[in-house]
Amino acid sequence: MTKPTLATVWLDGCSGCHMSFIDMDERLLEIAERADIVYSPLIDVKEYPEHVDFCLVEGAVSSEDDLQKIRLIRAQTATLIAFGDCAITANVPAMRNPIGIQPLLDRAYLENVTLNPGIPTEVVPALLPMAMPVNRVVTVDVFLPGCPPSADLIYQSLVDLLEGRTPDTRGARFGR
Ligand code: SF4
Repeated sequence: MTKPTLATVWLDGCSGCHMSFIDMDERLLEIAERADIVYSPLIDVKEYPEHVDFCLVEGAVSSEDDLQKIRLIRAQTATLIAFGDCAITANVPAMRNPIGIQPLLDRAYLENVTLNPGIPTEVVPALLPMAMPVNRVVTVDVFLPGCPPSADLIYQSLVDLLEGRTPDTRGARFGR
């Protein structure tokens, strides 16, 4: 029987949610037995597959690149999971929202730089005016709260999804 497919994606986040994913430790082997991990920063695949059953998305939507990626991911994913508080509320990346793009770029690339100051015009993706939660841009099916979500919550939620249940994340903030 074909296994369901699982992807994980890293947008504007600190990778802490992916660290928590790795903290599932030996339970990762069980997940890998039950689902094919087809796209992730943890594996060497460059293109998002045409159809993915479950995708965990870490981070806010902050750049043109993030926006393009999340629209493609949504179009090619059956169940999209906002993975952690940056994906759910924009959390830490949203701290730049009240500052505005130009003062932010000036500070980072001109005022705080001693060697070759200059705002990049290529390679670094252009910032959107605001860092946004994922569900501001596309429909989200499941929300896994936490900064980061605990390994236990990630594991239980994946098991629920793989067994056809909607994860119950009530109480997630209280160490469940
Ligand atoms: Fe990092 Fe917390 Fe954001 Fe996850 S939710 S990417 S751990 S800041």
